[in-house]
Amino acid sequence: MKKQIAILGSTGSIGTQALQVIEEHPDLYEAYVLTANNRVELLIEQARKFQPEAVVIANEAKYGQLKEALADLPVKVYAGREALCQVVTDQQVDMVLTAMVGYAGLQPTMAAIKAHKPIALANKETLVVAGELINELAHVNRTPILPVDSEHSAVFQCLAGEGNNAIEKVILTASGGPFRTFSREQLAHVTKEQALKHPNWSMGSKITIDSASMMNKGFEVMEAKWLFGVKPEQIEVVVHPQSIVHSMVQFADGAIKAQLGMPDMRLPIQYAFSYPERKQASFPRIDWRQCNTLTFEEPDVDRFRNLALAYEALHRGGNMPCIVNAANEVAVEAFLHDQVGFLAMSDIIEQAMARMAFIAKPTYEDYVQTDRETRSITHELIH
Ligand code: NAD
Ligand code: MG
Repeated sequence: MKKQIAILGSTGSIGTQALQVIEEHPDLYEAYVLTANNRVELLIEQARKFQPEAVVIANEAKYGQLKEALADLPVKVYAGREALCQVVTDQQVDMVLTAMVGYAGLQPTMAAIKAHKPIALANKETLVVAGELINELAHVNRTPILPVDSEHSAVFQCLAGEGNNAIEKVILTASGGPFRTFSREQLAHVTKEQALKHPNWSMGSKITIDSASMMNKGFEVMEAKWLFGVKPEQIEVVVHPQSIVHSMVQFADGAIKAQLGMPDMRLPIQYAFSYPERKQASFPRIDWRQCNTLTFEEPDVDRFRNLALAYEALHRGGNMPCIVNAANEVAVEAFLHDQVGFLAMSDIIEQAMARMAFIAKPTYEDYVQTDRETRSITHELIH
């Protein structure tokens, strides 16, 4: 029986790499659902190639074009946000890969968990915004959440075979991004073009900016807390510019296990699909003659204030991470439109954190409200 996979966000960086994994293993995996936000042309191309049961375009204005282009195929065509939540619950779906970007991932992920579909989680914002709620939901519905983010996949791989052995520390590696060695003065003048050039990974624009600002690592600290049940003080970030050690786990006896490999997201995607087994893969292997220096350094939270803000939000808990996420989404969008500078993003997020009302034990409705209000406050701060 082939595993039937629903890919939310199939036209993005993770989505297209997931389709490469499926293509490499036609005997094991099948794309059952493909979805996109706007890129209807690519979605059409993917649908013709992979012949899924259903496709969804979130932007309803593009429904007609999609429907017409696939009229000769037995593919069900839907549009809109509600449809995203519906398709993942289909009886035939064996796993849902959440590869869409941002807060938009929360609702469909919740729908998939409620329908008992194992989640291959790339959309880290879901855990940043509502980690506690998602964990409760996954627990009640006995739905596994398998990490796709390379750091968390590394930790997950290090934990294999460790049974109940306690984690002393999770050590997340960070490349440091394109501005690792920049001074504050230099950071004040960087452009979006510079920020969009990540040294080691080719990713969607939002996560690439988050990587340059280190907000991505802050989010990954939160993600690690919820995925592995560790306290914030048990999570350490280490800058490792080569991106070969994908992350590490330190145990009670001081032993550290690490997972290494070339920076290639297809490996963690495939591991989430095949877990607990490992399957053959054609991805590039490490050549130790080329890769002969691995270095590690401390992150600088004075230059990369987003990391400090993320830790603060994590310590305060409640709806604070949701506030940081929403303010960050708006700030990144503004940076990508040349409306704010690189360093201003941290100022904006900090101000949004100060202005929003704190809720210690948010419900789902509280998160929805917090997200909406934070976006509106952040827009005001920018304009
Ligand atoms: P991307 O921008 O390349 O792709 C995003 C996908 O989501 C697209 O298919 C897009 O159509 C869809 N989408 C965007 N907004 C949507 C909305 N409002 N509703 C429905 N669909 C929407 O992004 P990406 O780099 O593939 O990242 C996807 C997620 O995976 C992010 O949460 C990111 O943090 C995480 N992630 C990515 C990488 C990576 O290497 N790219 C690594 C680790 C984690
Ligand atoms: Mg990562």
